[in-house]
Order: sequence, then structure tokens, then C-alpha cells
Amino acid sequence: MSNTPFSSLNLPDALVSNLTDLGYSSMTEIQAQALPAILAGQDVIGQAKTGSGKTAAFGLGLLAKLDVKYFRVQSLVLCPTRELADQVASELRKLARSIHNIKILTLCGGVPIGPQIGSLEHGAHIIVGTPGRVIDHLDKGRLNLDDLTTLVLDEADRMLEMGFSADLDAVIAKAPAARQTLLFSATYPSAIASLSERLLRTPVRVTVEQQH
Ligand code: ADP
Ligand code: MG
Repeated sequence: MSNTPFSSLNLPDALVSNLTDLGYSSMTEIQAQALPAILAGQDVIGQAKTGSGKTAAFGLGLLAKLDVKYFRVQSLVLCPTRELADQVASELRKLARSIHNIKILTLCGGVPIGPQIGSLEHGAHIIVGTPGRVIDHLDKGRLNLDDLTTLVLDEADRMLEMGFSADLDAVIAKAPAARQTLLFSATYPSAIASLSERLLRTPVRVTVEQQH
């Protein structure tokens, strides 16, 4: 833990009081280092181990920026597996408890597509999904990213290891150029460096080696 309280950030009051309710008393190291840049709208590369609180680092960034009255997809979080996407969606729902009527939708492969098509017709503010299935919905015109403000690549190293590189490029091709892109990874191999160069604009790089 960093000993820095969430109240030191310029977060909406409702988000801060919900964090208190959740028992999040202070920021983890990655949150303390990444959130100021994320909330300032910068692109960020965050590198920290599993369990260090990366989901809330990007989650609070996209929730702080979200306009719930504007019922369009404003954030897209890509994850390597359905299990990880489900974990991210459930953490985001916890963080978003104080935001009424927010809709967070998961779009993962390996589950029937019919219910996803129905859900997309009803709309969502935030999509969490795996690259292949998200591309499928984009290609068929069921998902539109014209109003996207934040794109998150979570566990980007694993997505590349799993062969999602071309799918990531295909998603990015359909996202607005004027967006914030946040890339999180446990490791930083050269393939991640070159992905970051392609997708991020003058990113701030934050690395947390140790956990406290
Ligand atoms: P990572 O993505 O880095 O592996 P997660 O985002 O899944 O880590 O977070 C790991 C756990 O830590 C989750 O159970 C989450 O609810 C909890 N957590 C995250 N941030 C905080 C915090 N500031 N205070 C207390 N618990 C936290
Ligand atoms: Mg994670």
C-alpha cells in the first residue's frame, strides 16, 4: 500500500465514498503512481504484478470520465480470457456501485453469441471482452466505437502470447484516434514495447517492481 488516500485525487465524491464502503482505505502502489496521469487524460503503460490492483487503477480512470446520461459505449477493456474479463467486469461493477443506471457488458468468446447480440441492442456504457469476440461484433456492425474515449488493454503481454496481435490492431482501426489508451502488463517484452509504440501517444510509463 502507498498510504496515499483516494481522497487526494480529483475523483467524484460518490466514487470516493464507495471506495471507503469497499474497504479500500488507501491506494496500492500502481494506483498511486498511475492514477494521477490517468485522471489527467494521458496514455499510460502500467507494469505491476498480479494482485497489485491494476483493475481499479484503470477502472477509476474510466469511471471518473464516464457520462452515464450519454448511453453510448465510452470505454472498452480488452482481456486475454473470459475468466479475466469476468473478473474485471465484476471489479468494475463494485467500483461503479454509486453510479446509477450504469451498464457494463461483457463480450467474450466461448459463450453463445445470441444473448450478446440482444444485450448490444439495448446498449452499454462500458464493454469488457476478449479480442476475437469484440472484433466479431464490430465487423457485423453490432458494436460501434465512435464515442469511445478510453481503450484499455489489460494483461497485454498475455494477449500477445495468445496470438491476439492482429485482433488488437483490428479493434484499434475501428476506435477513434482521439482516445485515451491504457496498457497494463505484468511483463514488458519487446513485443509490448512495439505494441505500445503503435497504439499509445507519448505514454507515461509506470513500473512497480515490489509489492508492499
Ligand atoms: P491485478 O489486476 O493487478 O492482478 P486486481 O485489480 O485484480 O489486481 O486487484 C487485486 C485485489 O485487490 C482485488 O481483490 C481488489 O478488490 C483488491 N484491491 C484493489 N485495490 C485495492 C485497494 N486500494 N485497497 C484494497 N484492496 C484493493
Ligand atoms: Mg488484472
